[in-house]
Amino acid sequence: YFVEQPLVLHKEQPLTNDQCHHILHVMRMRSGDVVRLADDSGAVMLAELRVQEGRVWALPTAIVPAAQEGAPITLIMGLIKGERWEWAIQKAAELGAARIVPLQSRYCVVRLAEEKLEKKLARWQTIAREASEQCKRSTIMKVERPITMRELADVRSEQNLIAYERCDATSRSLAGALRGHSPASISVMIGCEGGFSEEEAMQAKELGFAWVSLGPRILRAETAAMAVLANISYEWES
Ligand code: SAM
Repeated sequence: YFVEQPLVLHKEQPLTNDQCHHILHVMRMRSGDVVRLADDSGAVMLAELRVQEGRVWALPTAIVPAAQEGAPITLIMGLIKGERWEWAIQKAAELGAARIVPLQSRYCVVRLAEEKLEKKLARWQTIAREASEQCKRSTIMKVERPITMRELADVRSEQNLIAYERCDATSRSLAGALRGHSPASISVMIGCEGGFSEEEAMQAKELGFAWVSLGPRILRAETAAMAVLANISYEWES
């Protein structure tokens, strides 16, 4: 379970309502049972539970080595519709993205109303936290505020790629672009259902995002994102 306060050995932590529910009613754990806690600095500890009147506290008793996170991956992804977007958040967290940056690009069907944004962001971050917990990451994948192409320069990394199905002859396959590189960080752009306009692809290229192909088939946006993350993990983590 991820806790909001920094973990301190032998200092009891209250757990959130959702965590209490999960521990008591899903996992059916009791006082004295041991769970694994992580805070967002990457610290991971074993902690003993104390249950009192339906609330749960956890007492960290031992430090455990945190799972190693690879070079931070920023997934810049065109906003896609509801369930597919939420699925993408969950799977991106499992496949090791450090953050997902929703991109409001030209052909996006989804247009986020300003008044609904905070609620959406909170829901997306909960999905990311639960998925990060479930796969025992030592940090929670962040869901950033949506950006437009104008802010693209701000989310660049050391290596920058854009999956573009209309690549020209000078572009490479994703595997070719990854192999032999070990950058300190990587950003990858994936388009929405309607893909990128030619102008957006050019704009990205000018900012240093190399065009890469994901093969001869046109993948759905969320499949393309997972193919990219799985390839990065295969090249750099295996
Ligand atoms: N219309 C489908 C959908 O609803 O998801 C396909 C959308 S495809 C245009 C979405 C994005 O996936 C593209 O903008 C691109 O980033 C990536 N993509 C899909 N297939 C690709 C390929 N073969 N090579 C490079 N990028 C690809």
